[in-house]
Amino acid sequence: MLLKDKVAVITGGAGINGLGFATARMMGEQGARVAILDLAAADPQAAAARLGEGHMGVVANVTDKASCEAAAAAVQARYGRIDILVNNAGVTQPAKFLDITGADYDRILDVSLRGTLYASQAVLPAMLAQQSGAIVCISSVSAQRGGGILGGPHYSAAKAGVLGLARAMAREYGGSNIRVNCVTPGLIATDINKGKIPDDKRQGILDGIPLARIGEPADVAGCVVFLASDLAKYCTGVTLDVNGGMLI
Ligand code: NAD
Repeated sequence: MLLKDKVAVITGGAGINGLGFATARMMGEQGARVAILDLAAADPQAAAARLGEGHMGVVANVTDKASCEAAAAAVQARYGRIDILVNNAGVTQPAKFLDITGADYDRILDVSLRGTLYASQAVLPAMLAQQSGAIVCISSVSAQRGGGILGGPHYSAAKAGVLGLARAMAREYGGSNIRVNCVTPGLIATDINKGKIPDDKRQGILDGIPLARIGEPADVAGCVVFLASDLAKYCTGVTLDVNGGMLI
């Protein structure tokens, strides 16, 4: 088992069709005790119960620093340590550049970018005390292409910001044996894009993916587990593309 006795925190992990929940499930299968953090409306306790015994769900809003700190304290109170953080919470909005309002910009950047800052700040004291840890941030191919298939320019900016924030953390905390890496998923079948791919665009999208299919949440989860595990113990500041070859 790749994550035996590790304690993993996953933000935005409650949606059972999402990347976060797929990662939570795979981490549980690999021996980790998993804390799923998500908004109350997403019911993280129910999601954690689906993983079986020994896991926990915590209501947390990643845009709220105090909420992240309270969640990290709850995880430490239960398990006594935090080994892994997956910064997965994110929201998207298709939009044209000139149509983006200040409120749109704040909402999209708040969850992906500020959320990555606050959740990471909340777990880093535990990792520093342990002198070990692995953080995996979920960015997006939108950050690399400068435009999403479904996300707007503000989403691209938020996810590009995540890459920079992660590399800065990787540089600052490498000496404390804390690794920070990113995955950049391409188009993955989850609730975030369900029903949003117009039928007349689907074939064109598939033509741009050498592996000729839309990704599954488990395709991303496997790469997150790898980066969080000791198999990747000499990797930090890495960006792992999980997009079926979309950027070739
Ligand atoms: P999803 O909507 O199923 O998951 C997002 C989760 O984030 C939800 O459970 C939601 O409740 C949670 N969330 C939203 N705001 C939050 C907040 N303020 N605090 C805590 N949790 C919050 O979608 P998904 O596709 O599984 O997305 C997971 C991550 O992967 C996101 O960061 C997304 O941007 C990224 N991503 C997805 C794709 C894709 O094609 N599905 C591609 C690239 C990147």
